[in-house]
Amino acid sequence: MTKKLIQQAHITGSEGDVKITLSGATFQENEDLSLQFVDPEFGVWLMEQIFWQEKILAIKKGWLRKKYFCSGCGAELNPTLCSPVEVSYRLEFSDYPPFSVSILLPCVTCSQCNKPCGIDLRDRLDFQISEAFVYAFERANIRA
Ligand SMILES: [Zn+2]
Repeated sequence: MTKKLIQQAHITGSEGDVKITLSGATFQENEDLSLQFVDPEFGVWLMEQIFWQEKILAIKKGWLRKKYFCSGCGAELNPTLCSPVEVSYRLEFSDYPPFSVSILLPCVTCSQCNKPCGIDLRDRLDFQISEAFVYAFERANIRA
């Protein structure tokens, strides 16, 4: 049996300070017209891309007094300059067509390399980013 594949124009979800949009990602359509991931690993892969490959969040060091560093070049960032920024990535999963992910989150843009880095002042952003994706998939009736 061949998989029926569907490219979803836009899927959006939000949680707290984070809003995500997934555009053009491919999903598998089942006989009952519900959608599911083309591969059970897709969700894990997606989070790995955002957190480890693209390094969306600034590096945080220190315990009582936190310092933030650019995840691209290592320069120190001033967290008081934090404001909502939309960062976008073009991703490609396996042999499926490329798609884009846009994530709106509180960022400081690095003055050295221009990379916007998510500033996680309250240790909630990684959770909020994951949850925003979960809500987006739920709203679009896409199962893992
Ligand atoms: Zn930098």
